[in-house]
Amino acid sequence: MKGDQVCSAYMKNKPLTIGNTQIQPGERLTLGLPTPELSTYTAMHIPIHVIHGKREGPCLLVCAAIHGDEMNGIAIIHKLLSAQLLKSLRGTLIAVPAINVYGLMTLSRNLPDRRDLDGSFPGSVSGSFAARLAHHLTNEILCKATHCIDIHTGDPYQRSLPHIQTNLKIPGTEKMATAFQPFVIVDTTSERGLLWQNNRGIPTLCYQAGEPMRLDDGGIRTGYKGILRVMQSLEMVKLKGKSHYDPVVIQSKKWLRAPGSGLCQMFKRLGASVQKGELLADIYDPFGTSQKFQIYSPQQGIILTHNTLPLVNEGDPIVELAPTEEEVTPEMWEHHG
Ligand SMILES: [Zn+2]
Repeated sequence: MKGDQVCSAYMKNKPLTIGNTQIQPGERLTLGLPTPELSTYTAMHIPIHVIHGKREGPCLLVCAAIHGDEMNGIAIIHKLLSAQLLKSLRGTLIAVPAINVYGLMTLSRNLPDRRDLDGSFPGSVSGSFAARLAHHLTNEILCKATHCIDIHTGDPYQRSLPHIQTNLKIPGTEKMATAFQPFVIVDTTSERGLLWQNNRGIPTLCYQAGEPMRLDDGGIRTGYKGILRVMQSLEMVKLKGKSHYDPVVIQSKKWLRAPGSGLCQMFKRLGASVQKGELLADIYDPFGTSQKFQIYSPQQGIILTHNTLPLVNEGDPIVELAPTEEEVTPEMWEHHG
C-alpha cells in the first residue's frame, strides 16, 4: 500500500516479520534488531517498538536520533508510545527512538566509521559500515513501511523552528504534511536520510525542531501532536476534537552567513517575521571596538533556524531565512502551544 491508498475495508491484519521475530495481529512488542558489531566484538541492538493492529492498514515508521546528539525525537516517540489511543490502532506503528544507537552512546552525529547514516541510504551489502547498516535497516524496517516520519533537530549550535521538510510532489505526502500542521513546510527534492524513500513512492516527512543536546518542550509537543494528526488522517487512530491550521509552504530557504568574525548578538527570535532590510544580528570585536559587522535581511521572510553559539567565524551560518510574504502571527504560536 502506498501514498493515499488507505484501505477502507478494514481487513484482518497479516503477521509481520522483522529480523527473526514474527509479530501477530493485535500484538505489541519491543525487539532488538542486531547490527554490525563494534571492533571490540560488542554486540549492538537497535530497540524497535512494534504495535501491530488487528485491522489491516498503513504501516507508519517513526524514527529518531539518526544523528546521535538529537534528543527531541526520542522524547516525542516516548510520548507517542504512551498514548492510550494506540490500543485500538488500525494498521501498524513501527517506532525507533534511536536508529543510530552507536551515535547515541557517544553523543555523536556519526557512526563508528565516522560516516553519517543520514547520507548512507539505501545502503549496500558490501559497502562501508554505514552503507551496510543502512542496507540492513532498509531491508528489515524501511521496506515494511507505507509511510515514514523521520525526526531531527537543527545541526550543532543551530536551533530550528518546528517544521517539515518533504517533497510534496510525491503522492500522499501533501496529505501527511498538511495533517501534521507544522508552522512551516519546506517543499524540497532532497533525498538525504529517509527522504530517499520518497523516490520509492513512500510518503516521508522529515520533522525538524529545536537543537542538538537539548529537549525543546514546544518542539516535542508539536511533533507528538503532529504525528497523531498524521495517524488520524491515515485512519490509524481516532482523535477527539479537530484543529485546523494552514502551514506556510516555502519552496526555498537561504542561510545568511557571518560577514566577519566576532561575538554575534541576535535581535530576532526564532519564527519571527522579518522585512527586507531589517537588522537581524550584530557581530562585534570581542576584544575591543575596532570592528563591527551587521546582518540585514535581504528579503521578507520567517526565521526558520538560527545560530546559538555567540562566538562566530567569518562565513558561519547565522540565520536561515524562509522567504515568504506570510507572517507567523501570535495565533499561530498559540495553536502550537
Ligand atoms: Zn539530524
